[in-house]
Amino acid sequence: MDKKIGRNDPCPCGSGKKYKQCCQKREQFERTKKDIKMRSIKSLSGGITNMMSNIGDLNKKLTEKKEEPSEPVKPPESPESLEP
Ligand SMILES: [Zn+2]
Repeated sequence: MDKKIGRNDPCPCGSGKKYKQCCQKREQFERTKKDIKMRSIKSLSGGITNMMSNIGDLNKKLTEKKEEPSEPVKPPESPESLEP
């Protein structure tokens, strides 16, 4: 499969036509179809990853905000009250 087919070579499918007039068009069409699919999948997964990281950031912020006030509110236990 290393052999590259020239555009003016007879098509390997055996149609007798030149490759550029036969299967090359179909191959290009398939390739563009695949390309579009890959691109849309990539952009979609990229968007999801972005969304997930955004959610993670949000979660982090929320937990940080939740933990922040709980610490100062908690009264510091003085060692004097524990040891009468
Ligand atoms: Zn062909």
